[in-house]
Amino acid sequence: MRREVALEEISDGKLYELNDMVKADCHDCEGCCDCCTGMGDSVILDPLDVWRLCTNLGKTAEELFAGELELGVADGNILPHLRMSGKEERCVFLNEQGRCSIHTFRPGFCRLFPLGRYYENNSFKYFLQIHECKKQNRSKIKVRKWVDTPDLKRYEQYINDWHYFLLDVQEVLYNTEDTQLIKNLNLYVVNRFYIKPYDTDKDFYEQFYQRLEEGRGLLELA
Ligand code: SF4
Ligand code: SF4
Repeated sequence: MRREVALEEISDGKLYELNDMVKADCHDCEGCCDCCTGMGDSVILDPLDVWRLCTNLGKTAEELFAGELELGVADGNILPHLRMSGKEERCVFLNEQGRCSIHTFRPGFCRLFPLGRYYENNSFKYFLQIHECKKQNRSKIKVRKWVDTPDLKRYEQYINDWHYFLLDVQEVLYNTEDTQLIKNLNLYVVNRFYIKPYDTDKDFYEQFYQRLEEGRGLLELA
């Protein structure tokens, strides 16, 4: 989710890259699950997140949308986010012990926290959100270790390409009053990138980029 605030207000003022050390390691959270509750619609998922959930839970995206996930509006785009449930608004994947039941395939947002991404000049760096994680005794850890994602360079390129594609979609959405176009474009993004099944025997990124190329072509016509 885009935030229109000065970086200095929410961070230590530094930007980090994969090999930098950052004070983000909250020691396996040790009894805290604050950022897994009350997050509203803010844990937004990218297509890889949903693909990971489908693959590891053995469910289709449609089944997830009928249970664990919801659609919401984020900066003009309609995108999926994790569902929070009950009075305490707990993430549906938080178990009785207050631990993440999908830790090994948790979404990118959860892997990153309390880091965020700062996009500039068609790329991004990481920043440390200083007001978000309640743990006072966090240790330094290398960003690449914290993000804990295979094939990180490829993943970062994918994250960046997805982000800028969504910005291009927003550009069309904000500059039209054609309600049918708005509806069709939002449906296209959800159906094409999230709901249409990806072949589990093939590389996710290759399939994603085929869809992205098609999506970019469509935006040029819009
Ligand atoms: S998926 Fe796991 S880490 Fe992410 S909010 Fe839910 S319980 Fe927390
Ligand atoms: S607030 Fe910090 S310590 Fe608590 S669950 Fe989130 S990341 Fe872990």
